[in-house]
Amino acid sequence: MKGLIFDIKRFAIHDGPGIRVTVFFKGCPLSCWWCHNPESRREGPESVTRNHKINNRVFLINEQVGEWLTTDEVMKEILKEYLFFEESGGGVTFSGGEPLLQHHFLIDLLSACNRNSIHTTLDTTGYASQEVIIKVMNKVDLFLYDIKHMNDDVHKKYTGVSNKLIFDNLKFLHDEGRNIVIRFAVIPGINDNMEHIQNMIRFLKGELVRVKKVDLLSYHNIAGHKYRAFNVTNRMKDSKEPDKKQLKEIKLSFEKEGFEVNIGG
Ligand code: SF4
Repeated sequence: MKGLIFDIKRFAIHDGPGIRVTVFFKGCPLSCWWCHNPESRREGPESVTRNHKINNRVFLINEQVGEWLTTDEVMKEILKEYLFFEESGGGVTFSGGEPLLQHHFLIDLLSACNRNSIHTTLDTTGYASQEVIIKVMNKVDLFLYDIKHMNDDVHKKYTGVSNKLIFDNLKFLHDEGRNIVIRFAVIPGINDNMEHIQNMIRFLKGELVRVKKVDLLSYHNIAGHKYRAFNVTNRMKDSKEPDKKQLKEIKLSFEKEGFEVNIGG
């Protein structure tokens, strides 16, 4: 079986416990205004031209982003780091894009990891049918589950999709006893006000009583060159990154309510 992958990162330390290999799936059903991986969004290989400067001379380099790889090819890369997994309590993280969009390939890879006793983490938007979630969930040791906005209209405006399916799946995984860490990217002017943070805390405490860990991620405006290279409109180009003080205040709001919060994943 083959799947479309746009990157495989070794020694990842922010995508779950221990030292990990993160496999990035290409293709995403959302179109978040703040996406810092615009190359992950389209479902197909893309060719981009990049400027490359050597000794003050600029070279134009054509690059293909996204490659169809077999399960064996990806597993071969993952297994190279097996010793680090054992020593650090790490494993593999499937990220994207949205890995659930290629769920047949994802299941194949998860099964291969399970057979090799490799810890599996799925970094997901949760935007998939419940049928897909059911097929995947027993093969995943940890879900890193994104919450982007509690209000459905705002969610639709900034991501292009409703949050209803995402919250239904999150609740389902929670009720099925899955291991979940919430990932919340703080986006200036969109989801960073205290009223929204308090709504989120109320929701987590009321509906997801077993969820105790939150990763706070900060919006970064470092992807401008990627937006230009991939010819995608950057609607956040004038936005500033949240400052450390604001992130600390948000962290404290969660901690006061009993959550363990990690800034930066
Ligand atoms: S869900 Fe992630 S990969 Fe998809 S558009 Fe949003 S930020 Fe980008």
